[in-house]
Amino acid sequence: ELAVKDGLTGLHTHRALQARLEEEILRAARARTPFSVIMCDIDHFKSYNDRYGHQAGDAVLRGVAAELAAGVRDVDLASRYGGEEFVLVLTGVQKLEARTVAEQLRRSLEAKVFDLGGGVTSKVTASFGVAEFPAEGAIASQLIRAADERLYRAKHAGRNRVVHD
Ligand code: GH3
Ligand code: MG
Ligand code: MG
Repeated sequence: ELAVKDGLTGLHTHRALQARLEEEILRAARARTPFSVIMCDIDHFKSYNDRYGHQAGDAVLRGVAAELAAGVRDVDLASRYGGEEFVLVLTGVQKLEARTVAEQLRRSLEAKVFDLGGGVTSKVTASFGVAEFPAEGAIASQLIRAADERLYRAKHAGRNRVVHD
C-alpha cells in the first residue's frame, strides 16, 4: 500500500504516480509550462497468460516495463498504473513531443523479441493515449481520463498505435 516501487516491474506504483502528478501540476501551473502524460496498455495481454501461463505473462510485463523505463529521461516518471497498464509523466514536455516519444516506444516494443521462458519467444505490441496539462486536464483525474479516452480509441482503431487528439 505504501510502496513506491512495483514489486514485479520495478516501476513506480499507482500511489507514487498520484503524488508525482500533484507535484507536477503545482510546479507546471506556477511556471506556466506544460507537461504530458502517456497511458499505455499491452495489446491482447490476456492471451499470453492463457497460452503460455501466468509466468510468461509476468515476463511480458517485466519486458514492457524495462522498455518504457529505458525510453524516458531520468526526470520523467514511469509507473505501473494497473495490471498491464502503464502511465508515463513527461516533465516540461508538450503533447506533440510526447506523441513522438510514445511513437518511439511503440516502435521499440514492436521490434523487440520477448523471451517468455521455457523456450518460448513472442512479439508484443501496445496501444498509447497522450494528453497534455493544462489544456486537456487541469487536475490529475481529468488528465488521466483524457489519456485513457485516447488509449481507448487507439484500441478500437486496431491497437498498436498512438492517439493524441
Ligand atoms: P486489450 O488489447 O483490449 O488491452 O486486451 P487485454 O487482453 O490486454 O486486456 P484485458 O483487460 O482483457 O486483460 C488483462 C489481463 O491482465 C487480465 C489479467 O488476468 C491480467 N493480469 C493483470 N495483472 C497481472 C499480473 O500481474 N501478471 C499476469 N501474468 N497477468 C496479469
Ligand atoms: Mg488493460
Ligand atoms: Mg491490454
